[in-house]
Amino acid sequence: MLDVLIAGAGPAGSIAAWTAARAGARVLIVDRDTFPRDKLCGDTLNPGAIGLLHAMGLGDGLAALGRPIAGMVVSGAGVAVRARYAAERSGLAVTRKVLDAWLLERAIAAGADYVAIGPIYATGTKPTAKPVTLEYVRWAAANVKIPWFAIGGINLQTIDAVLEAGAKRVCVVSAILNAADAAKACAEFRHRLS
Ligand SMILES: Cc1cc2nc3c(=O)[nH]c(=O)nc-3n(C[C@H](O)[C@H](O)[C@H](O)COP(=O)(O)OP(=O)(O)OC[C@H]3O[C@@H](n4cnc5c(N)ncnc54)[C@H](O)[C@@H]3O)c2cc1C
Repeated sequence: MLDVLIAGAGPAGSIAAWTAARAGARVLIVDRDTFPRDKLCGDTLNPGAIGLLHAMGLGDGLAALGRPIAGMVVSGAGVAVRARYAAERSGLAVTRKVLDAWLLERAIAAGADYVAIGPIYATGTKPTAKPVTLEYVRWAAANVKIPWFAIGGINLQTIDAVLEAGAKRVCVVSAILNAADAAKACAEFRHRLS
């Protein structure tokens, strides 16, 4: 039984999960990506963002994730404005791959469950994603200690191989929603999982 399901393990989702889990809620956080994942970003935290993370209780260990930044340059159309932060303040250059995984780990440590092993196969619900293959399912079965679900391209033709690779739970979308008889498809998936 869950109290909160959070879709998206970016900074907003992970901090929400961390907050809810620390307040005693049963939280499940899911992401369509496999972490650690990179994301297009300037990869910098300004002093205000750093202050906010400290005020929330997420400051410990933050500075060690990246490199300090003393100021910023705002440029464009032949003009550049250079500014330094006040002496006691600093920004932080940290990649999203590192920062987002670190925030997610804080949420998991606070009691949230994180699940996303996929897409196992090519899937129409995420057409640009490269399949992680059954090899990754085998890795998850051996290494992931919290509940996880295999997802992506799982249907009645592929589910047995996914289960044989070590998955115990699966997410299925198209193979149920596009089935001529969705109830019958659910019953068959349930039978294969039992
Ligand atoms: C080019 C660029 C540069 C930037 N530079 C900076 C910077 O230097 N400093 C700064 O502070 N901010 C910067 N930003 C802004 C910053 O990226 C965002 O404010 C921040 O990522 C928002 O966090 P979020 O958690 O709301 O969303 P995101 O970080 O986008 O996370 C959303 C998560 O949800 C997941 N997701 C999406 N849809 C689904 C779904 N249907 N099911 C499951 N999971 C899903 C995604 O995989 C993703 O992991 C930049 C943004 C851009 C575009």
